[in-house]
Amino acid sequence: MAAGEHESAEVSQSTTVVVIGAGPAGLTVASLLRRCGVDCVVLERHSRAYVAQRQRAGIVESRAVRMFASWGLADLVLGGAPHDGILEFRVDGESHLVDDSDGSAGPGARLCPQQVLVHKLTAAHLADGGDLRYEVADVSLHDLTGDRPTVRFRSADGARHAITCAFVAGCDGDHGVSRSTVPEGVLTAHTLDHGIGWLTVLADAPPPAHPLLAVSSHGFAAHFPRGPHSSRYYLQCPSDDRPDAWPDTRVWEALRTRLADPALIAGPITDRETFRLRSLVHDPMQYGRLFLVGDAAHIVSPMGGKGMNLALYDADLFARAVRDHVRDQDDTGLRTYSRRCLRRVWNDQEFSHWLTRTVHDAGDDTHAGPFLRHVARARLDRLFTSPTAAQAFAELMTGLDPA
Ligand SMILES: Cc1cc2nc3c(=O)[nH]c(=O)nc-3n(C[C@H](O)[C@H](O)[C@H](O)COP(=O)(O)OP(=O)(O)OC[C@H]3O[C@@H](n4cnc5c(N)ncnc54)[C@H](O)[C@@H]3O)c2cc1C
Repeated sequence: MAAGEHESAEVSQSTTVVVIGAGPAGLTVASLLRRCGVDCVVLERHSRAYVAQRQRAGIVESRAVRMFASWGLADLVLGGAPHDGILEFRVDGESHLVDDSDGSAGPGARLCPQQVLVHKLTAAHLADGGDLRYEVADVSLHDLTGDRPTVRFRSADGARHAITCAFVAGCDGDHGVSRSTVPEGVLTAHTLDHGIGWLTVLADAPPPAHPLLAVSSHGFAAHFPRGPHSSRYYLQCPSDDRPDAWPDTRVWEALRTRLADPALIAGPITDRETFRLRSLVHDPMQYGRLFLVGDAAHIVSPMGGKGMNLALYDADLFARAVRDHVRDQDDTGLRTYSRRCLRRVWNDQEFSHWLTRTVHDAGDDTHAGPFLRHVARARLDRLFTSPTAAQAFAELMTGLDPA
């Protein structure tokens, strides 16, 4: 194809923000921007059906619920029952209930699975006339350090497009195109491999009365609600284990042993994967007019349930910063975006790391050794006996700590 033909075939457009990725981060950015009258276009490489069925997180923490409420969106985009604030730790079969609500006034956390949040954000955005394009390909970012970046892509029908904008929101997760466009050496990647593997399964089986974390000499296990008739389970396993090493009978046997619940009701397993626990932070979360939001900038080990909630935090700060820029010509929010996000990111990384080490070291003396096992058990005991320690834990769980 000659150069002239190529250019004439490209459809050009202009908007204020191009959002790459329609996961929790991208959809929240888009919904908040629409809420304050800022136009944007969302580009997603998968189909709507594919994005809507990705099941990951299960709880929208109190801070994020209040964030949506402050935008007048809580009732529209959050489903699920209120979380009663109780978390169960089961240590060698002995149950300890910890109150993970911090007691402050205002709405608390919601049991809202990630796919429900994504479904509701999508529906609300489209009903509001939002521009959301699925199954785009070959997304590329240009002129990010200039005044008007351009995002090029191919739409589902194969047509080539170029959208010029003021800002790009890179909400395309850990394997997206946004971060990989940033030239080498601009961002510093801080990474940690925890040396721990997890098998996670989703099953059509009764949810627990409360989210449940269990430690035992057989290893860590967890049981979380994911709906009225479904549950997500986690089992610590060797970090190079594959899902086919875990047939159904082995999964249920291990869960019954580690949860110390011989009567645990099994059900059809609908999804099964293994992964290594890892943590990752990219600093800064900005390059020129590209702002990284959510997993595109950071990965948190699932312990503590912070990954999606951090994505929602970033999305809120970014949307407010763009609103202030457009409405008041105030760039303070844009200038401080990365620094403010990273403060909470490291705060939540610390909490997640603390909880990851505590529950794995306390349960598995073959990995941590007897000394660290005693240290981890002492940490858990403090949580069960000291109201001050329990209050600090609750603040971190709700996201209402001052970070
Ligand atoms: C097993 C597991 C359990 C978890 N449990 C919890 C939990 O309990 N609590 C919690 O808070 N978090 C949890 N998380 C983390 C949470 O799922 C993520 O933090 C969250 O999905 C981040 O949202 P995001 O929008 O930033 O990224 P993603 O959800 O990854 O969305 C990125 C989107 O960008 C799209 N995309 C990628 N590349 C391109 C491209 N080139 N062009 C266009 N679109 C693109 C993708 O298709 C995707 O739709 C868990 C994660 C895992 C793996």
